[in-house]
Amino acid sequence: MSRIAYVNGQYVPHRTASVHIEDRGYQFADGVYEVVTIFNNRMIDEEGHLDRLWRSLDELKMDAPMKREPLKMVMREVIRRNGIENGIIYLQVTRGVAPRDHPFPKHAAPALVMTAKRLSMEKSQKTAEAGVNVITVPDIRWTRRDIKSVSLLPNVLAKQEAKEKGAYEAFQIDEDGMVTEGSSTNAWIVTQEGKVVTRPTSNSILAGITRGSLLRELEKHNIDLELRSFSKEELISAREVFLTSSTTYVMPVVKVDDKIIGNGHPGIVSQQLRAIYEKFMQEI
Ligand code: PMP
Repeated sequence: MSRIAYVNGQYVPHRTASVHIEDRGYQFADGVYEVVTIFNNRMIDEEGHLDRLWRSLDELKMDAPMKREPLKMVMREVIRRNGIENGIIYLQVTRGVAPRDHPFPKHAAPALVMTAKRLSMEKSQKTAEAGVNVITVPDIRWTRRDIKSVSLLPNVLAKQEAKEKGAYEAFQIDEDGMVTEGSSTNAWIVTQEGKVVTRPTSNSILAGITRGSLLRELEKHNIDLELRSFSKEELISAREVFLTSSTTYVMPVVKVDDKIIGNGHPGIVSQQLRAIYEKFMQEI
């Protein structure tokens, strides 16, 4: 089945899908996005993603391209036309097309683009069984990381550095030596005392939707949790480390920089949480 994209009101072949050269997303990174998991033909946490999209739009004083219900219908149609059982749908809204000038354009309509792609559950499972390596890098981003903006250059540089060093992800470290989050994931540790720790939401990190759902599952399962920042030292000496995102679910980390975590295999708590999260997805 050939891939189909949605571009400003039309379903078009992915191969030839395009937007105007003066789209403000292209020129100013003046746009926001969402990535929603598709699991067993269903979207996971659709409402949470749409809440976050609307929040990002509000924070940037950007109009929504359409109302929420029609948007959901387009998302379903994109998934249907691409025949995706397991994968992701990518949705991007920019401030639209206008002659290049920094202030908001008076007349531009917001532009909406969607794509969808298949992801292999087997590959994800295999990666999770082995666990992944992470490096640490300085967090050089702006101070509104709570907005899911398409302005991702620091994240791109961080992920590239990880790739060049044979790692899966880069955890970013703020000026106080504390871990903020990964380049496209949220960071978690399990302390030597067995407490699950992740950073509270603020302008310093993206409020991951997977993070939010996992927190609710932890509560349901009475698992000890501390919402607080943790340092790079604490990360490196943690009993377990894992990361979360819509594309990785719960992913165990077995090495940070040059330091092996635990015995170099996915930790018990990380594995348990991955299983809990998978069950949550199955039951949606
Ligand atoms: N942090 C950043 C910087 C991200 O880009 C992402 C992925 N969009 C996440 C965290 C994880 O968020 P989610 O669980 O909503 O995918």
